[in-house]
Amino acid sequence: MDTPVPSLYIHVPFCSHKCEYCAFYSELLKPEQVQRFVESLCGELKQLGPALQPRTIFFGGGTPSILSLHQWETILDCMHGMGWGQIPEWTVECNPATVSKEKAQLLKQGGVNRISMGVQSMDAHLLERLGRIHSREQVFRSFEILRGAGFENINLDLMFGIPGQDLKIWHDTLDTIHALNSEHLSAYEVIYEDDTPLFHQMKAGAFDVDEDLIESMYESLIDRSTAAGYHQYEVANFARNQTSQSPYDVPHWACQHNIHYWRAGDYHAAGPSSTEYVQGVRRQHVSNTSLYCDGVQSGGRGIVSEETLIPPVQQGEWAAFAMRMNQGLDFKLFEERFGHHPTQLWGEQMQSIQSRGLAVVEKDHFRPTPLGMRFADAVGSEFVYLQD
Ligand code: SF4
Repeated sequence: MDTPVPSLYIHVPFCSHKCEYCAFYSELLKPEQVQRFVESLCGELKQLGPALQPRTIFFGGGTPSILSLHQWETILDCMHGMGWGQIPEWTVECNPATVSKEKAQLLKQGGVNRISMGVQSMDAHLLERLGRIHSREQVFRSFEILRGAGFENINLDLMFGIPGQDLKIWHDTLDTIHALNSEHLSAYEVIYEDDTPLFHQMKAGAFDVDEDLIESMYESLIDRSTAAGYHQYEVANFARNQTSQSPYDVPHWACQHNIHYWRAGDYHAAGPSSTEYVQGVRRQHVSNTSLYCDGVQSGGRGIVSEETLIPPVQQGEWAAFAMRMNQGLDFKLFEERFGHHPTQLWGEQMQSIQSRGLAVVEKDHFRPTPLGMRFADAVGSEFVYLQD
């Protein structure tokens, strides 16, 4: 029998409103559709159960916290029926507008031990600009509820480079968030995805993208978060409790689920539009909730595509992901997995990256410099192999 897969991602595809920048697959909440989704999700989890022994579970979306107490009870009962035991890291994404005391307690008692809350900004005008449904006050309120329910591991998500955001507003958000003392922070630059309202506004000239300002925001994110006791372990991720002095270790509160992705580990996925990666095969679920439910209810999983990645693609992805983390590319781990030393495959590229000050070769690692972390996508693209 194959080794059980240690990670599971679940996509909950519902939101109460579409944000201006959002390109994720989600639909507006319709009660009958949600009920059918919950039943189908449980059906898919039952199919997957024996193939999994999760060390990490991540409910993302969409807005998982939009599900009702009753719907969460159904999902939790289904998960408990799998015999997986206690899950070391089980995250649920929450929107500050949809956190209640009862829901927080239910999740905590059900085994969820990490919450990731989408704050994005603490500025009322910018929250409106982004089309977010929550307020600054709801962030404080929800954070308190989550702590009151016993959550000791909370991530807060932020965005920078938002049109209309200046350094003063960004610093106010950072300082306010640091004062909440969450265990983890993620901060992403706004991406103008095709076909989002924000993309069309930018194309129509409604605002300019100021790269210098964005650069300053990223720098102050790192400086202020470091001063507030966070340790950057990935391009956009910071966590508390860096007990080791080694640059190859991650902080205690680092997100193990995401680290598993960045180390190109196997993970299953359930729910519409989700993608899984198991033993070199990538599978994609249909990005349509009705079709997903039809697929599961007729005995399948709603998978619409499957691609077997050839070794050069797997190796390239491994290296590109690794260069997002402070640890960089671990030569020993790479050799154990693929049978080659990275310098045999990318000697020239690595030299060129190093000569541009983007990474350094150390004894057993190729580690990004702070500049290399800033341009991790460009660095990573030098390892990627495109499969026809
Ligand atoms: S809450 Fe998240 S998934 Fe939903 S529309 Fe906003 S950004 Fe997209």
